[in-house]
Amino acid sequence: MCPFCGADDSRVIDSRFVREQSATRRRRQCGACSRRFTTYERVELMLPTVVKRDGRRQAFDVDKIRAGVALACRKRAVPAERLDDVITKVERHFSEVAEREVTAQAIGERVLHSLRTLDEVAYVRFASVYREFSDVRQFLVELEKLQETAGVE
Ligand SMILES: [Zn+2]
Repeated sequence: MCPFCGADDSRVIDSRFVREQSATRRRRQCGACSRRFTTYERVELMLPTVVKRDGRRQAFDVDKIRAGVALACRKRAVPAERLDDVITKVERHFSEVAEREVTAQAIGERVLHSLRTLDEVAYVRFASVYREFSDVRQFLVELEKLQETAGVE
C-alpha cells in the first residue's frame, strides 16, 4: 500500500536481496500518485521452541545465541562476519529441522560444532558454559581432545 495516498496499486521498479537482513528490498512506484517508496520483505524463519534443561519452554532467541558466542569470542581474533556466519548457520539449521521443539543442549552442541573450526579458545569457553560440565574431569577430557586435534595438524 502506498504510504502517500493509500492506493494498493504499485509496481516494483527494483528488487534486491539484502543478505545481512535476510530481507528483500523493493523499490516501488505507486500506480495512482506515481510516488516512489521502499518496502522490505523479511524472510520469516520457522524456528522450533526451545526446551530448557528444567523442562521450561521458551522461544528460539537468536540474539541470546549471538550474545553467548560473542562472549566466548571476546578478545579473540574472530572477525565479526565469521561470527555472524556461525549464527546464521545455526539459525538456518534449526529452521530446517522437522521437530517443533529442540533442547537448549542441542542448540549448544550445534554452536560448538561451528565454533570448533573457528576458534579453539572460543570453543572451550562456550563448551564450559553450554555443556554445564558435571565435573572437571569431563571438561579436561574435552580439552585433551582439542589438544590432540591441534597436535595432528
Ligand atoms: Zn500513491
